[in-house]
Amino acid sequence: MTVKEVREKIQKRLQKAEIEDFEYEVWMLLEWKLGIGRAEYFMDPDREIPDKAWMSLNEVLRERERRVPLQYLMGSCEFMGYTFEVDERVLIPRQDTECLVELAVKKIRQTLREQASCQVLDICTGSGCIGISVKLLCPEAEVTLSDVSEGALDVAKKNAWNLGASVRTIESDLFENIQGSYDYILSNPPYIPSRVIEGLMPEVREFEPRIALDGTEDGLYFYRAIAEDAVGYLRPGGWLIFEIGQEQGEDLLSILREQGFENTEIKKDLAGLDRIAVGRWPENVEP
Ligand code: GLN
Repeated sequence: MTVKEVREKIQKRLQKAEIEDFEYEVWMLLEWKLGIGRAEYFMDPDREIPDKAWMSLNEVLRERERRVPLQYLMGSCEFMGYTFEVDERVLIPRQDTECLVELAVKKIRQTLREQASCQVLDICTGSGCIGISVKLLCPEAEVTLSDVSEGALDVAKKNAWNLGASVRTIESDLFENIQGSYDYILSNPPYIPSRVIEGLMPEVREFEPRIALDGTEDGLYFYRAIAEDAVGYLRPGGWLIFEIGQEQGEDLLSILREQGFENTEIKKDLAGLDRIAVGRWPENVEP
């Protein structure tokens, strides 16, 4: 078969499997499995490919037709320009989450100009994408990653090692095993209301860890729990920064204000949707 025939075949099959971003994925698969990038493709589309290469491509294509996410098949994904390893034990890092990292990095750099050290906790870390990116972009910050899932924490540790990020990891059900106090608590907790999960695309619904998605009945369980307990782990003047779902802004403002957070704010992502909730623990807390 020629590269062109292969490309057309993949495209047809992905389309038939109702894969949303099939055009992009065709190129990803060609690059990954045949080592042929777009430029090379157009230079010689009639080049023959070995049967073996087609067989190996065919194998992953079958998995993709079952809707196994491409990132799990490839075993990695890009986030903040870094390559993170992923498998079924962790949520696949989303581009939306880069907004949270960018905001956190901006604030943490400011803090590091004002004080010698800065303690950061990434709670529900999953693949570690948030905390590890923060550590790589703010090397002077001391970063702790925590997750309730041992499997997820294994992936996060591997990613920290691969990327050369020196971070602490703690297996903990929310704050159960957390000690000390932090200048920043960052989290992208599970926030999808349980009943909504069934309507999501098969890649998410069937293959991503339910524990990383399910925010219980109203989707807000982890925000309430973290906001309530964070109070005991934040330094005066410390910040709590959450990623949120686009319809959760108002609820988050009430949750944060109810717990006594100040400077509460909802920030939007590049698509103009509510994406981040921020609150500051007061500098002078009444005894
Ligand atoms: N913190 C990780 C991420 O943002 C995992 C989040 C999760 O498992 N809910 O991708």
